[in-house]
Amino acid sequence: MVNCSINGCKNSSRTCNSTNKGITFHRFPKDPDIKEKWINLTGRQDWFPTENSRICSIHFHENDFNVTAKRCNLMKSSIPTLNIWKLCSENVSFNTIFSQNIKTM
Ligand SMILES: [Zn+2]
Repeated sequence: MVNCSINGCKNSSRTCNSTNKGITFHRFPKDPDIKEKWINLTGRQDWFPTENSRICSIHFHENDFNVTAKRCNLMKSSIPTLNIWKLCSENVSFNTIFSQNIKTM
């Protein structure tokens, strides 16, 4: 079973299989810079993704996906920006992260 790595997100492959809501789960990127942004956005402290870590598709914009044939891939530079509610409610500098990473809100 795969769980979403975003702190506070309950989505997992058990609750959201492919027939349910169209939620997909995405591996952390290989690019170290983008990977670091993803890790920051999970809202977790002292945590690093493993081979099995995933972030689910509710945290990405439609535009972040490169939908080809039947596969739903993320663009290489996509970062999760949606539904990061946990981060907002905690004392993490949400706006700082966003102003660095996001050009248009
Ligand atoms: Zn999620």
